[in-house]
Amino acid sequence: SITPASLSAISNGARKGILFKGGVHLERLNHLNAVAFDKTGTLTKGKPEVTDVLVRDGVSEDEFLIKIASIERQSNHPLAQSIVQFAKDKRNLQLLQPESLEDVPGFGVIGTVQGKQWKIGKADFIGKDDATSFKNGAAVNLASEGKTVVYARDEHGVIGILALKDVVRTEAVEAIKVLKSLGIHTVMITGDSKKTAEAIAKECMVDEYISECLPEAKVDKVKELKERYSTVAMVGDGINDAPALATSNVGIAMGEGTDVALETADVVLMKNNLSRIADAVKLSKRMNSIVK
Ligand code: ADP
Ligand code: MG
Repeated sequence: SITPASLSAISNGARKGILFKGGVHLERLNHLNAVAFDKTGTLTKGKPEVTDVLVRDGVSEDEFLIKIASIERQSNHPLAQSIVQFAKDKRNLQLLQPESLEDVPGFGVIGTVQGKQWKIGKADFIGKDDATSFKNGAAVNLASEGKTVVYARDEHGVIGILALKDVVRTEAVEAIKVLKSLGIHTVMITGDSKKTAEAIAKECMVDEYISECLPEAKVDKVKELKERYSTVAMVGDGINDAPALATSNVGIAMGEGTDVALETADVVLMKNNLSRIADAVKLSKRMNSIVK
C-alpha cells in the first residue's frame, strides 16, 4: 500500500531522476546495509577505448586488427564494439565477413576468418600461461593501469593483445563516499581480471571487490552479501547483471542499461547518476521518520 508520505517521496525521487517501481523499494532502502556495483557501465561509463595494440614480432598491426575487429563485429559486448570502432574509425580498416562465430558470454568470442580460427577474450579463455607470458608479461602493466586486456590467439599461440581503458564516472567516488558515511558497505563485482579490478576498485574506493566473476557467480556473491548484510542493493546495467539484480533486495538499474536490466530492476537511475542512490537512502530514512 502506498502511504501519502511514500507517494510524496516517490514523486520527489522522480523529479531528481530516480524512479521507484513501488513504495516498498523506497521503504527497504531505509534498512540498506550493503551495495554491490557492477564495474563496466555502472561504476565506469562503459565506453572503453583502445589504448594499446601489441602484436607478435613480424605481424602487421593492421592485418591483426582486421581479423579481430571482423570477428568482434558480430558480438554486442561493449569491448567488442569499441574494438570495431577503433579499427574502422581510427585505423580506417576495411573489415571482413567471418565464416563462423561463437559468442561465449563472460569469456570472449571464437571466430573463423579467411580459413583461420581465432579465440579472442580473457586470459583464462585463450590459455592463461600463453596469455601471461606474451611479450614477457606485457599485460601486467596495462592491467595495473586499470585497463582491460583482450587476448587474441590462433591455433599456434597468442598473436596480439589489445588494452582498453574505460573511465570511472565522475560522480562515482563521491557517491561511494557518501554511502560509506551512511554506514553502508560498498562492493564492486566484475568479470574483469584481478589486476584491472583492483585498480578500478582503488580509484572508486569501494570497501571490497570481487573479480573474474562469471555471470552466475554474481548471483552467488549477492546471496553471500545478503547473509552478511541482510539488506543488499545491486546496481547494474547489463543483461549479465539481471539475475543478480533480481536476487538482491533492491535491484537498481542504470537508466542507459539494457532492457533486461531495466525490466528486472526495482529502481532505475534515470540519468545514470550514482549519487542518487545515497539521496534515495536519505529520502527513505526521512520518510520513515515521518511515518512513525
Ligand atoms: P564485465 O563483468 O566486466 O561487464 P563480462 O562478464 O561481460 O564483463 O566479461 C568478462 C571478461 O570476458 C571481459 O572483461 C573480457 O576480458 C572478456 N570478454 C567477454 N566478451 C568479450 C568479447 N566479445 N571480446 C573480448 N573479450 C571479451
Ligand atoms: Mg556492466
